[in-house]
Amino acid sequence: MISVDDVSVIVTQKRIKHCYIKVDRENGNVCVSVPIGWNVKAVEELVRSKASWIKRKQTAVSDRVLNRKFEFNNGELHQVWGSEVPLINTSNSGRRGVKRSQYALVINAPAESSLDTREKLLTAWYAQEVKSAALVLVDKWEPVLGVKAGRLSAQKMKSKWGSCNIQNGNIRLNSELAKFPKGALEHVIVHELVHLLEPSHGKRFYSLMDEFLPNRKALKALTG
Ligand SMILES: [Zn+2]
Repeated sequence: MISVDDVSVIVTQKRIKHCYIKVDRENGNVCVSVPIGWNVKAVEELVRSKASWIKRKQTAVSDRVLNRKFEFNNGELHQVWGSEVPLINTSNSGRRGVKRSQYALVINAPAESSLDTREKLLTAWYAQEVKSAALVLVDKWEPVLGVKAGRLSAQKMKSKWGSCNIQNGNIRLNSELAKFPKGALEHVIVHELVHLLEPSHGKRFYSLMDEFLPNRKALKALTG
């Protein structure tokens, strides 16, 4: 992985003559294939010349992730932390809800459950995923920033990835973050924690962000 301006690039060596670039349609990762014995300048040039195309592709990936309509059929692919995972419906006597097995997302609900019910169960599961991942990340970042967060919560939100109440340090997170690579959640967590040092989005805020998360723009790009 190398960084070109604000873009993280996964570089793979192949027996080819020229560099090729693509944006992964599942997760928005920028991948460049290079000839054996590649030089970093060629990759930098290629990525820079394609900067606006990359941005467009990544926005399209995030739009697709957020606005897909689901039918909740067996085998339908759903995004989990930047990968596509097939869905399996079951209806046993166990607790209603979603579990992640090694290869699938298993929804347990009565067979006659509506699409809406299944969607709600999945949203609740995404929220739980975001919350448990966020707890780990908050533990990691609190000592680095020298701040203390309050209560963490996650729910589906339309227009925000997160918010922070600077009076009590409570952080609210968008459950949709569980669809994107974990770096996107980490970016939101650091953003909200930095608000405990600097409430506004002024110059000081972004210089703190740069200090703590030098690749912040690449992480932000994951959600388009
Ligand atoms: Zn903010």
